[in-house]
Amino acid sequence: MEKVWILGGGESGVGAALLAQKKGYEVFLSDGGSLKKEYRDVLIHHEIRFEEQAHSESWNSSSVVVKSPGIQNSAQVVLDVRAAGIELISEVEFAYRHCDSKFIGITGSNGKTTTTGLVYHLLEKAGLDVAMVGNIGKSICWLLSEREPEYLVAELSSFQLDDIVDFKPMIAILLNISPDHLDRYDYKLENYAEAKFRITKNQSPEDVFIYWNEDELLNAFVDSGRVKARTLSYGSKKTADSAAWIEIEEESETELLNLNNKLRMSIQKLALQGRHNIYNSMAAGVAGRILDLRKEVIRDSLMDFQNIEHRLEHVVSVCGVKYINDSKATNVNSSWWALESMDRPSVWIAGGVDKGNDYSSLIPLIEEKVKGIVLIGTENEKLKASFAELGIPMTEVLSMEEAVRDAYNMADKGDAVLLSPACASFDLFDNYEDRGNQFKYWVRHL
Ligand code: ADP
Repeated sequence: MEKVWILGGGESGVGAALLAQKKGYEVFLSDGGSLKKEYRDVLIHHEIRFEEQAHSESWNSSSVVVKSPGIQNSAQVVLDVRAAGIELISEVEFAYRHCDSKFIGITGSNGKTTTTGLVYHLLEKAGLDVAMVGNIGKSICWLLSEREPEYLVAELSSFQLDDIVDFKPMIAILLNISPDHLDRYDYKLENYAEAKFRITKNQSPEDVFIYWNEDELLNAFVDSGRVKARTLSYGSKKTADSAAWIEIEEESETELLNLNNKLRMSIQKLALQGRHNIYNSMAAGVAGRILDLRKEVIRDSLMDFQNIEHRLEHVVSVCGVKYINDSKATNVNSSWWALESMDRPSVWIAGGVDKGNDYSSLIPLIEEKVKGIVLIGTENEKLKASFAELGIPMTEVLSMEEAVRDAYNMADKGDAVLLSPACASFDLFDNYEDRGNQFKYWVRHL
């Protein structure tokens, strides 16, 4: 019996173990840390052998090692497996080798989860046999261990793309590339970008590569001739390979989303508001057109999509002030788009764990839209210094309760309060969900 050794016992590792077992392999799972109870129980229930706190059992006799995306390439065990010449692949590669589903892969620095949700919604509404995998829902392998849908809409991080070999989506969407996670890529943007470009590396001319044509790195990549798939782009303006753009209807002066001259709809009608979300809607719409979905289905889906929590989520209005939870904004670029989308004077709650951020790009937007800043975090010095000269009222707090209270005091009727931290959450919260939930809790108790 062929052996598979699985490195990491989280959602993707346990999913890979389940799929491997279903496909008839002898499976062993190893995790250097301890497993969450729910995952340990699943392994025990399925009689899958595993170890925790160490990598003692040998991977030597296995034909392939499946690595979870959370494990760094520099980890000793990864180096050892590679040095021994044993094939090491990511979970998505393992999934790809063991199913006939057609993949729609979505990657980028920001907007992956949102766009994955949108594309899934379109296909589901069109009545196709489809599943969504990645950040929301199950890992790819876990889902495949239960059923094999005709279409898989997969959110792919650069870590998952790092160790693909043959993985080839029929549609690949690359949303944007801005600095993030550079600590895992020797602090080189090129390395991080290369990981994202891998989404199209095995595509052939019958596949489609959809990208945002306002991103310099993406344009340069497409111009370099490295993409073998058919390219289709989207953005504000129409370009040579555009499949979606914005046009102004002269009479009413309203902005329309134009999908390849086949469908026009007012951008005010889109379920997801904010400039960046227009682009996400375009990307999803282009994918829908490639799959020949009816234009009514595309239009309706883009209009009735239910927003995902913690992403420019309108919580509630209190005394005429709109409270918006964008806790998922864990980097500068996503907060840039959140601020850009504010259509009223705003009090901005920001701060947390700085990942080597440069906040200068935010300054013009802050000057234009922000009337007060609440810094929440244990290390606010850098943020404070970045905005000190703007002369905007600023307070510092150490809890969400205080943050909401200060923001409430600074805001007037007709304003908005925006939580869009531009930083990770681990100093004061478990994760961004916890941060967003606490925000919503205190807002609802105002
Ligand atoms: P990801 O899954 O890539 O982290 P999400 O869809 O969860 O992306 O959104 C993360 C954050 O980025 C949110 O704060 C959201 O408002 C912002 N965002 C969403 N789409 C885009 C985009 N196309 N460009 C820039 N920022 C975006």
